[in-house]
Amino acid sequence: MLRPWPFNGGVHLEGHKQESNFAPLIIPPLPKTLIYPLPQLNSGNGNILVASGDRVLKGQAIVVSDNPMLPPVHAASSGWVRCIEQRPLPHLSGLTGDCAVIDVDGLDESVEFQGFPNYAEVEQAGLCARIHAAGIVGLGGAAFPTMVKLKPPKHLKVETLVLNGAECEPYITCDDSLSRHFPHAVLGGAKILMHILGVACCLLAVEEDMPQAIAALEKAKSEGDYRQIEIVPVPVIYPMGGERQLIQALTGKEVPTDGLPAEVGVVCQNVATAAAVYQAITTGEPLISRIVTVTGQGVRRPQNLLVRIGTPIAELVEQCGGYTDSAERLILGGPMMGIALPTDDIPITKAANCILVAGRDEVVGVKHSMPCIRCGACATACPVNLLPQQLYWHSRADSLDRVMAYHLPDCIECGCCDVVCPSHIPLVQHFRSAKSKVAAKEQERLKAGHARFRYEARQERKQREQLEKAESAKRKKELLATAFLTSNNAC
Ligand code: SF4
Ligand code: SF4
Repeated sequence: MLRPWPFNGGVHLEGHKQESNFAPLIIPPLPKTLIYPLPQLNSGNGNILVASGDRVLKGQAIVVSDNPMLPPVHAASSGWVRCIEQRPLPHLSGLTGDCAVIDVDGLDESVEFQGFPNYAEVEQAGLCARIHAAGIVGLGGAAFPTMVKLKPPKHLKVETLVLNGAECEPYITCDDSLSRHFPHAVLGGAKILMHILGVACCLLAVEEDMPQAIAALEKAKSEGDYRQIEIVPVPVIYPMGGERQLIQALTGKEVPTDGLPAEVGVVCQNVATAAAVYQAITTGEPLISRIVTVTGQGVRRPQNLLVRIGTPIAELVEQCGGYTDSAERLILGGPMMGIALPTDDIPITKAANCILVAGRDEVVGVKHSMPCIRCGACATACPVNLLPQQLYWHSRADSLDRVMAYHLPDCIECGCCDVVCPSHIPLVQHFRSAKSKVAAKEQERLKAGHARFRYEARQERKQREQLEKAESAKRKKELLATAFLTSNNAC
């Protein structure tokens, strides 16, 4: 059995997994409404296919695009498009955006799905096209388009598929639940992904504190032809589920800064993504549902639910018995990397793995931060080998060149430095703010570059026009002179 390699840093956190994991997986009744945030489409890179008053069926695409970075979005049940209107988005900014709102009719009528039961006979390109058409993105939280990850640059040789089932963030148990209830879909999806990538080895990582998931996967493995898939229990340390940390733990190889996992011969996908691929390829059903953990002291019945994408969070909380009196904060994701939501009138998207309704005892009050004592604990805890203390000083001083020199973009915002800082400095907040300033400066630079380009192009055009004018005047003059001479000679 493969023994995981250590990676630097990380922290041991209280898991809080049992709250949602002890309850059975629930399939809630159809929601009354489905809400789909619509992507900003530039002309020519996609189409919104529905308008107010249209009837839609389950599995019908409502947004399509040829752009590989914009996978389609499908209606998760049948109903009528009530409107397209501005609604709050599940984003840190708290901004609103255009959303399609569907009144579900309860009939759950579906378009006809057609799968590839013998997918091994289908060209890799055909399978990738199906994965894009099914709207599949990474379900671990990042929502990166799966098809793009399956097409690494040609000069890089991929040898290993890593399946990420290491759900390291406290409270979240949706991948655990998926692996326990649908192990064949996970392993089947792994085989399809291996076929597409042309690799003969898959390492499926599951945290050691998920014994039921490991047992279910091992049992499923013994029941089918899954010899090339190795199930690897990995130590319980946060952030083991980070892509780079997991690859290092499983292969001993470090993904280079600014590099792709394919540069060390690896493609990494989440277990739920593998299951979605299995569904899309074998049955043709697009990505219209996912398992979501609803947990925390602020909800009456913490549990995992197999949810239609587009379901409003409020309806989901209702399915879990509603809010308790101690409900204090609504978080999308886990307590470490999740984002606080201003309202529950926000839908479950493909990226939503957990709704944490934090109770009073679970909300970390704003602690008075004290000066940095240069203890170095943050650097020891950082899994990316950064120097958070230096980043903090330069972020505070707005020295953007210095934060870049200290590799700010490599920060995965895992929060390990925050957890260990004895001075309670909200380091990640500083890093996020510095990242936005760097992004704004880059935007300015690009804007200035475009403005300069436009100015230079205008100057060039003016010079060319002046030259052409002068040329044409000269030619006119010459023609007139020739005509004058000819008429004189004729006289
Ligand atoms: S852990 Fe906190 S106090 Fe210690 S060096 Fe880092 S920022 Fe400073
Ligand atoms: S938040 Fe960034 S700097 Fe802090 S430990 Fe995580 S990766 Fe390192």
